[in-house]
Amino acid sequence: MRIVEIREKAIRQKRTVRNAVGNFSDLTTSIVAVITDVVRNGRPVIGYAFNSVGRHACGLPMRERFIPRLLEAPEEDVTLDPKAFDPEKVLETMIGGEKMGGDAERSIPVGAIECAVWDAVGKIADEPVYKLIADHYRGGEYDKKVFCYIGGGWYTRDGGIPELIAEMQSHLDTGYTLLKTKVGGLPIDQDKARVEAIIELVGGDASRVAVDANGGIGDDRRPGYAEAFGPLGLRWFEEPAHPIDFYANAQFVAAYKSPVATGENLFSIQDVRNLLRYGGMRPGVDVLQTDIPQCYGIAMAARIQKMIGEFGWSSRSVVPHGGHMLSLNAAAGLGLGMCEAYRGGFGPFSGYADDLKVEDGWLTVGDWAGMGFERQNVLYGMMKEVAE
Ligand code: MG
Repeated sequence: MRIVEIREKAIRQKRTVRNAVGNFSDLTTSIVAVITDVVRNGRPVIGYAFNSVGRHACGLPMRERFIPRLLEAPEEDVTLDPKAFDPEKVLETMIGGEKMGGDAERSIPVGAIECAVWDAVGKIADEPVYKLIADHYRGGEYDKKVFCYIGGGWYTRDGGIPELIAEMQSHLDTGYTLLKTKVGGLPIDQDKARVEAIIELVGGDASRVAVDANGGIGDDRRPGYAEAFGPLGLRWFEEPAHPIDFYANAQFVAAYKSPVATGENLFSIQDVRNLLRYGGMRPGVDVLQTDIPQCYGIAMAARIQKMIGEFGWSSRSVVPHGGHMLSLNAAAGLGLGMCEAYRGGFGPFSGYADDLKVEDGWLTVGDWAGMGFERQNVLYGMMKEVAE
């Protein structure tokens, strides 16, 4: 049971909105198809993934290095036999011997391929990936329900507070209970008015509201945001500083006092460790948000869970970036705190299986094989086109 071919295709993500930094209108992602020699119903089993959202397609390093290494590796190192599958060996086959540092150049292509390998193994085993993850890393224990918050509130060209509130009301109507909106793209008082309107919408309960600055607040404005937003008692304030400006993050945490979230733009376990050492992040209070396919994939996510435990952090304080089946399977399998969703924010790359409904903020995992992409009609159609 082995990989016979891996294909990649760059797909445009259709974006029409902006955050504090920009609108990313030319954003792409890589769809990866791992074609295996296992045949079911006359067709090869194929594992799929994509490199989450917010980072561009990365087919060149896949084709130059990571795909050839997997195809040329000894079969026992990269076997897809569910009983012998070794995610650590798959990861090491791709990155072993590479020069240290510069992780983002490899963590995203490697992570996307790695997640597609898990999808293939899950399909061969006829088991959901969250169960495979739990078998590998958690003694078989997985979460049947995962809390899911909604990330929205992007700045639109003409949208004011009424449009923002209409959007947030639609999220509440769909079953979400924790709402996140963008900040950092307007003067502080206007951003605060937007957030206060959402707090009012949820009956004054600020613990049901989070904000995301996407690292887009400069040193000059950061103290003002800490002062204006700290007393609101929000669920969290996300990316108040550049992702690796740990000093600025620590200064914000100290001034803001309420929970802070960051980590979606860290691409190595060493960067995550440095965030915990030097970024002022507090176990039991703050939130860590590494993106699983963008940070080397599931085996690395498991290593990160182990590492953060040494700093007193619980896996329940981890909320992976990217609202899709990759993050849902990882969250259920590794026992993470919650996952996120964007309703249409990234086209078919946002969202979960078509038949999954959020109920009072919770998703219940299903008995899909692999990641469950076959239950996402539009996305799966795009995936099949890459393989066939
Ligand atoms: Mg974010």
